[in-house]
Amino acid sequence: MYDIAVIGGGVIGCAIAREMSRYRLGIVVVEKYEEVGFGTTKTNSGIIHAGHHSPPDTLKGKLVVRGNKLYDRLCKDLNFGFSRIGELVVARSESEIPELERLKKQGEAKGVPGLEIWDRERLRNAEPNLSNTLIAALHAPSAGVINPYELANALSENAVDNGVDLKVNCAVEKIVVEKGFLAVHTSTETIKARFVINCAGVYADKIAGMAGLSDFTIHPRKGEEYMLDKRLKGLVQRLIFPIPEKNTKGILIIPTFDGTIMVGPTAQDTTDRDDASTTYEGSEQVFGFVSKICPSITERDTITEFAGLRAVSNTNDFIIGPTRIKGFINAAGIQSPGLTCAPAIALYVRDILKSEGLVLEKKKNFKPHLPGPPRFASLNDEQQRRLVEKDRLFAKVVCRCELVTEAEIHSAVDHGARTLDGIKFRSRAGMGRCQGGFCAPRCMDILSKRLDKPFQEITKRGGDSWVVKKMMDS
Ligand SMILES: Cc1cc2nc3c(=O)[nH]c(=O)nc-3n(C[C@H](O)[C@H](O)[C@H](O)COP(=O)(O)OP(=O)(O)OC[C@H]3O[C@@H](n4cnc5c(N)ncnc54)[C@H](O)[C@@H]3O)c2cc1C
Repeated sequence: MYDIAVIGGGVIGCAIAREMSRYRLGIVVVEKYEEVGFGTTKTNSGIIHAGHHSPPDTLKGKLVVRGNKLYDRLCKDLNFGFSRIGELVVARSESEIPELERLKKQGEAKGVPGLEIWDRERLRNAEPNLSNTLIAALHAPSAGVINPYELANALSENAVDNGVDLKVNCAVEKIVVEKGFLAVHTSTETIKARFVINCAGVYADKIAGMAGLSDFTIHPRKGEEYMLDKRLKGLVQRLIFPIPEKNTKGILIIPTFDGTIMVGPTAQDTTDRDDASTTYEGSEQVFGFVSKICPSITERDTITEFAGLRAVSNTNDFIIGPTRIKGFINAAGIQSPGLTCAPAIALYVRDILKSEGLVLEKKKNFKPHLPGPPRFASLNDEQQRRLVEKDRLFAKVVCRCELVTEAEIHSAVDHGARTLDGIKFRSRAGMGRCQGGFCAPRCMDILSKRLDKPFQEITKRGGDSWVVKKMMDS
């Protein structure tokens, strides 16, 4: 019998599991995919929002500034990449200036630090590659960027280090309310827990339905993103936002943590909860818009594209709290800025669990820290030489685009990578211009040997995402 079963190993489930692993509790995370973070978490913009966008009378608006602040500590503890590069909401005409002022006022009331309105000249000096038709901008220095999959991996790894059980390839199929506990029937086993936390992203209403609850619905909203070639590195220094629209913060220019530029996302309502397709219309919309803000960006620089699904609830807000079923707690409807809010949501859920009667006794041996993965490409010559002296596998380059060595691929496998995407998200092998054209077979070979699995069974992201159809007889 577990104290807590977390359903869904996205950033929200992983953040909650890691937070609760500070206490003497039995905790399990149940994830249907092969690795954590393979749902919406791996397909977002990676922005740690400053907090001025979300209305203060919503739960997302209340949690966002706290979430943003918690990132400094979290990054120190877990060693993932995080940089407060700041954000600019740009105005294209005089008529948009009142909206900058409204956002500034809203942000200040919520405690967003350092908000300033910049005039045309200041904007031009700071971001010379933006269109000279822009007339002003709201600057928010506390906005930052991370690689979201890196965070989900770090949270889950640290949670497991602190005693959490992680069950992947394990889909919840049925929930039975028993006397004093919930029985979670999965594709592999039945799990009993006193508390179940529903963090199932776009499937959260289905999971609630399994427990007999029908108080909310989730409506997926697709966002397409386009990653551009490294040659554009440095084109903009800060996150560039347009004036927000009703349902979205708009199409953005995002300097990712690793320095590549990404543009997007779109916002398209859909009924398909697994639709990760990108479209011609999406690309037209993104580049048509972005080229007006930054004229040197064109679709010809795209090296890859992907789409993610926002879990928009019928209340258009987060739905976090206990339900009429004792022990069943929702952390649902976590649309944007869910990534930003994740550490604050974890604390919010901790307090709910406490008020629902869970006794929280701190562990004396909680380990808050996780060493970061080796990053050969980021070291100077002398540091690289020393690494190679220690381990010759650092001398073997596997991914040429991103300069990732064989030692780093092994480290990714040691830290839980089971698929090509798992290796990519932990080591950056396959992230560059050729998108794994060169290194994918080499990564598959290492995975095959390390996992003792036939080469043709290695997948891109689990399930039936096969890479090789059939091995020819040699
Ligand atoms: C295009 C886009 C851009 C975004 N940009 C930002 C941003 O820049 N900043 C920001 O703060 N937020 C952003 N967001 C929002 C952010 O990505 C989400 O709020 C966050 O990832 C939600 O995490 P989650 O854990 O709730 O969901 P997920 O990551 O989807 O996790 C849910 C998990 O539940 C699992 N699951 C579902 N059903 C079952 C089942 N039956 N059994 C077992 N497991 C199950 C899934 O496999 C999945 O792994 C963006 C979202 C999108 C779509």
